Amino acid sequence: MTTTDGALQPATTALTNAITALINPQPHTIKNQLHWLDSRYDQLQDSIGGNQGQSHTQPRSIPLIWADAVDQLKKIDTQVKKWQPDSLHDDTDTPPTVRRLRLIQQRKWRPQDVRDIEDITANIQAWNEKIDDLLNPLPAWTLPNPCPACNTTTVYHTDSTGERIRKPALQIKPHGCECQNCHYNWSPAYFSHLAAVLGYPLPAGVLE
Ligand SMILES: [Zn+2]
Repeated sequence: MTTTDGALQPATTALTNAITALINPQPHTIKNQLHWLDSRYDQLQDSIGGNQGQSHTQPRSIPLIWADAVDQLKKIDTQVKKWQPDSLHDDTDTPPTVRRLRLIQQRKWRPQDVRDIEDITANIQAWNEKIDDLLNPLPAWTLPNPCPACNTTTVYHTDSTGERIRKPALQIKPHGCECQNCHYNWSPAYFSHLAAVLGYPLPAGVLE
């Protein structure tokens, strides 16, 4: 038994988890109640129809999400077909990509396949994150103040439709408050310091 033999089991488990996260309905808790959302793949497809399905996503402008979702879906369909050309057609309306991913999930892998498995897993995990970004943008809290590090108040982004979007430079994200211009990041531990610099009283519950 080589080291690669030992790596097969964790690699196939990670692959199964990644595929499940992409094509199976997703548990979602709202006020302590469990709901099942359409799979990420289904939600992505729905978003292209200009219809966000049953998902509890934030309303977002359709053109913006549309172009990005079309690109992403095309990328997934093309890549999955490369991995698994045959889709075993059935009578259901299950999309070919979903059928292909299930076939990949059911493959009998060998120890020498570990590298391929990890490569497929990494791709699917990145798609899952991308889909989450597209469909469930994290609420970005912003501050109207100039960045204490670079003095920038506003940054501009170009979205996928070519439209220029204006955003406050200081954004609060899970990993802290980050300037979108100089990317200086104040970790949550430094919020009290940042709040003092910007002249805010501390929000309740930020510390301790
Ligand atoms: Zn800055």
